[in-house]
Amino acid sequence: MKRFFAVWAVVLLILSCCGCVDGQSQPLKVQNADTVMGTVLQQTLYTVDRETPAVREIIGLLQKLEEERLSRRLDTSEVGRLNLTGGEPSGSSVSPFLEEILRNCLEMWQKSEGAFDITLGVVVSLWDIDGWAAGENRGVFVPPGKEQLQEALESCGSGRLTLERDRLYLPEGMELDLGAVGKGIALNQVLMYLRENNEITGAIISLGGSVLTYGQKPDGKSWSVGIADPEDTASIIGTLTLEGEWFVSTSGDYERYAEADGVRYHHIIDPATGYPADSGIAGVTILAKDGFLSDALSTACFILGKEKGMELAVSCGAEVLFVGKDGSITMSEGMKVYYESA
Ligand code: FAD
Ligand code: MG
Repeated sequence: MKRFFAVWAVVLLILSCCGCVDGQSQPLKVQNADTVMGTVLQQTLYTVDRETPAVREIIGLLQKLEEERLSRRLDTSEVGRLNLTGGEPSGSSVSPFLEEILRNCLEMWQKSEGAFDITLGVVVSLWDIDGWAAGENRGVFVPPGKEQLQEALESCGSGRLTLERDRLYLPEGMELDLGAVGKGIALNQVLMYLRENNEITGAIISLGGSVLTYGQKPDGKSWSVGIADPEDTASIIGTLTLEGEWFVSTSGDYERYAEADGVRYHHIIDPATGYPADSGIAGVTILAKDGFLSDALSTACFILGKEKGMELAVSCGAEVLFVGKDGSITMSEGMKVYYESA
């Protein structure tokens, strides 16, 4: 973990130095890269204010969200604190902000027939997914045993979660994990910030597998969001051409994984088995007008697979594109308007 962050600190230092305001023409382009929520944040902003504090303010906004609200890795955050209350008969009060998120998560759990489940914290920890990202267990990864997983699954299940107005009753041993929606929630907050900031005329912001587009480029050209090729993540299979405000989220088996005895395990867990989902999908991209929805759906559709996933995404008013393990591409009718293959 330390090595991961040490490497990133160097990379970030270089990138921050490159974070530049270029050209004479208006608006100015400002670029920056940083790490937030254990993943990479890349900002490209177009601004009429040469001294804009927006880049720093957006980083601050996301760090605050992580530290005070969403991170289950920090006992200082609301989710971290709630995870310490499992089994308390009187439950625990939740902020209006988190209450709304939890309600939306429970709704998605229902709509996805249990595929999307924010109560898998214990199972996610058992797989040591953070360790994969940090490269700590590379070469020595031992997957958890079937019995261990079965036991861990007994402390999971959104059906066992009770949210009565602003009180949450977390069963003993259960741990919330908002890893599947945290970046979408964060980008929703960024959009609100940008809308209130008159100096930013356009922006494209990427946080891990989620992207927000906003406003316009000075040259009037559309935003272009590439979709990674799961077989070769340095390449793209195609691009989405977008105008104005959009959220694009991708969940893929190549984002986080570990290998043991020639088997590759990824980080999107099927709540029915406790094992990485195996629905024949290598990557799912969702296009939506809301960050929570795009992020939640990308995870849910990955687990559900093509047919059920397509049905769910379309019923939620989102567009979806699946890349099968065999390389096949399937997309909703509405997605065809925006997609062009590479
Ligand atoms: P997504 O498909 O969007 O989400 C997959 C993640 O959701 C899994 O990693 C797991 O956490 C969870 N999940 C798995 N299966 C399911 C399911 N069936 N239903 C619902 N959720 C499921 N990572 C670090 O390594 N270090 C950190 O310090 C760190 N801090 C974070 C802080 C916050 C506030 C958040 C939200 C995430 C943090 N992460 C951290 C995790 C990381 O940024 C991403 O969550 C992770 O990369 C997965 O994102 P994704 O887009 O690839 O996959
Ligand atoms: Mg997601």
